[in-house]
Amino acid sequence: MKPEISLIIPVYNEQENIPVVFDRVCSVLVDESFEVIFIDDGSTDHSLKVLQGLSKKSVFLKVISFSRNFGHQSALKAGLDYAQGNCVISLDCDLEHPPHYLTEMLSLWRQGADVVITQREQSLNLSFFKRVTSKGFYSAIRFLSDIPIDPGTADFRLLDRRVVESCKSITENELFWRGIIPWLGFKTKTIRYSQAKRQHGESKYTLTKMIKLSVVGITSFSVKPLHLSLYFGAALSVFSFIYLAYAIYVRLFTNLTLSGWASVIASILLIGGVQLVILGVFGIYLGKLFIQAKGRPQYIVRETLGKLD
Ligand code: UDP
Ligand code: MG
Repeated sequence: MKPEISLIIPVYNEQENIPVVFDRVCSVLVDESFEVIFIDDGSTDHSLKVLQGLSKKSVFLKVISFSRNFGHQSALKAGLDYAQGNCVISLDCDLEHPPHYLTEMLSLWRQGADVVITQREQSLNLSFFKRVTSKGFYSAIRFLSDIPIDPGTADFRLLDRRVVESCKSITENELFWRGIIPWLGFKTKTIRYSQAKRQHGESKYTLTKMIKLSVVGITSFSVKPLHLSLYFGAALSVFSFIYLAYAIYVRLFTNLTLSGWASVIASILLIGGVQLVILGVFGIYLGKLFIQAKGRPQYIVRETLGKLD
């Protein structure tokens, strides 16, 4: 029999957290029909062993194990592809997304919401670094992309089966669910949650991974960065024409001479730098086309545990 609720939990080196998270979600959902799918995203610690041990003891626990690390967003896609429930809830494997909010999410779903997203309240449980980078990221994305993404939204959300079916048809290689979900539309409710402290271990989102995700987030939903280079180039041209006119005026109608090789070098460097940045922006979009044109799968599964079909 198919479960009513599927929980999908990406795992990357979370050996200590897995049993605690599983225990907690099971205790919240005791009276429900549910399955918990852990997606092992190429962990290099004993996460898979821990999952194998737990799956022998519980029929609710299922595992999809990747052949290597494909990233959190791809792990979520695998969870959506394999989940069988009428609604699917994704959460982190570190208890930062407190399981007691599941009750509220489910009740909003039962009242008719297709999507329940969560928005993080400013919390002291968040490191200063995370607060600053997160703020910068959401400001940049709001300015540069056309999708309304609320600041502090997390990959802690509930999706109704019809939304999940739409998600399954997404074939993008560079996934950014926080943007895709609002793009899909559907009746959405938001709950505010206060983020708890990570139970064990450290954040698996290194600075490089965060920058990569931000670039994917911006470039997957908008070509504004390409347009901005055009506007910037146009503004610079207007400025240099005015300056040229001034230089001609000075040469023809006054006795002054415009001097200074330093300003010439500075402007050459400035324009060279701007051109390289613009070329880089073009490169990012070209790279996306290149990756997508190959049409490779979003993830590769090495093995699964538990009944997944
Ligand atoms: N994660 C993953 N693959 C990765 C990085 C992270 O599956 O390459 C998982 C991780 O185990 C966790 C979730 O994605 O369950 C979110 O990661 P994390 O909690 O480290 O990020 P943060 O909450 O600090 O942004
Ligand atoms: Mg986390």
